[in-house]
Amino acid sequence: MTNKNDNSSSDIKKMSTLLLSGATMLADSCPDCNVPLFKKGDNIFCPKCGRKAVYVRSDEEIKQIEYTHSFSETKETIQDIITGKLNFLAQKLAASEDLEEIKIVAQIMDLLLELTVKISSVK
Ligand SMILES: [Zn+2]
Repeated sequence: MTNKNDNSSSDIKKMSTLLLSGATMLADSCPDCNVPLFKKGDNIFCPKCGRKAVYVRSDEEIKQIEYTHSFSETKETIQDIITGKLNFLAQKLAASEDLEEIKIVAQIMDLLLELTVKISSVK
């Protein structure tokens, strides 16, 4: 118990020494020790285990956010296109007296409606 307390107070000492030496404390923490990572110059490291940190994970997170963001825009674009086509098909359906054409138009409308449901369920 006392040992653990000693350890964490020496961690704090190490961290404050680092801060005084011009290192910056980062929002991310070491996956092993759970203490905040420090950055000094180009080096990002854990003050406790001394391991250099490599920022692979956060890069992936950024890409993930960008991907989600651009996909939600794509989703909106697709929905707009489908809505436009459905309007066009509805007019065609209203104007048509050809049973074969009505059948085809109805089938396409059905497909497009299915597509809108599928797209809106994609997260
Ligand atoms: Zn560590």
